[in-house]
Amino acid sequence: MKPGIYLDNSATTRMDESVLEAMLPCFRQNFGNASSVHLFGQEARATVEAARRSVAELLGADTREIVFTSGGTESDNAAIVGIVEAARSAAKHVITTAIEHHAVLNTCQALEKRGVSVTYLRVGSSGVVDPDDVRRALRPETLLISIMHANNELGTLQPLEEIGRLAREHDVYFHTDAVQSVGKVPVDVEKLGVDLLALSAHKLHGPKGAGALYIRRGTVLRPLLYGGHHERDRRPGTENTPGIAGLGKAAELALAHLEEEARRVSSLRDRFEEGVLRAVPGSVVNGDPARRLPTTSNIRFDYIEGEGFVIAMDLRGIACSTGAACSSGSLEPSHVLSAIGLKHEQARSSIRFSLGRFNTAEDVEATLEVLPAVVEQLRSLSPHYRKPAAAL
Ligand code: PLP
Repeated sequence: MKPGIYLDNSATTRMDESVLEAMLPCFRQNFGNASSVHLFGQEARATVEAARRSVAELLGADTREIVFTSGGTESDNAAIVGIVEAARSAAKHVITTAIEHHAVLNTCQALEKRGVSVTYLRVGSSGVVDPDDVRRALRPETLLISIMHANNELGTLQPLEEIGRLAREHDVYFHTDAVQSVGKVPVDVEKLGVDLLALSAHKLHGPKGAGALYIRRGTVLRPLLYGGHHERDRRPGTENTPGIAGLGKAAELALAHLEEEARRVSSLRDRFEEGVLRAVPGSVVNGDPARRLPTTSNIRFDYIEGEGFVIAMDLRGIACSTGAACSSGSLEPSHVLSAIGLKHEQARSSIRFSLGRFNTAEDVEATLEVLPAVVEQLRSLSPHYRKPAAAL
């Protein structure tokens, strides 16, 4: 297969070669159980603890505050369910937003069925939560605020520092799903004021099936699983040493190149958007143009059908998406795009392009060469589309 152009890094990223190099010994000579007493076990333990230091350093956390998990979904579940289940109060309330990933939304919905009250905050047309709305939603029985750092469809960044201050003032736990932001923009748990933070290795050029949950010291939560005493009794199960080693390496690489990579990728993204907006009339960037990840561009091409666009681009060797990979195939418009006020047909004509470490200026130029014709071809199939007079 000819290597295509991959512009779907929000779905997952290609693993870095040095991540693979860090993982391979864990499948070979360093195969021990990190809980075993003998030398094999000690070597595996050393690998796990080195990775924990790298993840802690990336987040500005203490190593004792990092718990390894199977990924973002588990970390989100463990944080939200863990806080709610540990609370002894009869009335329980959680504040979240309408634009969270399903790992948070469906967890909150499951808790509602158990009698927990949940407020789903609305966002403005740019996809940003207003901290005043968070303040207004607080109740005496609020246990937790769970608000994502960067949205997976739009890339929009939320004002976590302000919300963190609010949470502290009101003595409420604060969790953030930072699966999309970690490794792409600076994430410092002290600066953001979060008590719990979820991340996932495969979004930062690490392996799938590995992630971490930052848990601020002193946070009381009930573990999701029952088992052995691993991870300081926070998460039982034999440690996934290859995955953890890969996550550690991915965190180390991300930190080493954070600022220069953010600059490089955002300039690629800006060039891409400028090229698209110039060549395709009736194209609009969704979400906040400034307050967002350097990697993500969500563009609406009126009168096209998103799925058709993704397939047509794929046939030309370019991978992009209509939104979250886990919602692909759904006939419903994206809950995120609906929440920012897009009409059904506008949401269905929106495409997410997400760049990453391995994208180059050539990728962007090659995409810009084919994209306008693909949009034009799809528009010609729409009974509602009229070519602008200037283009006739
Ligand atoms: N949260 C966000 C914002 C995501 O984008 C994703 C993955 O798409 C997840 C959570 C789930 O992470 P994982 O795939 O590691 O379970």
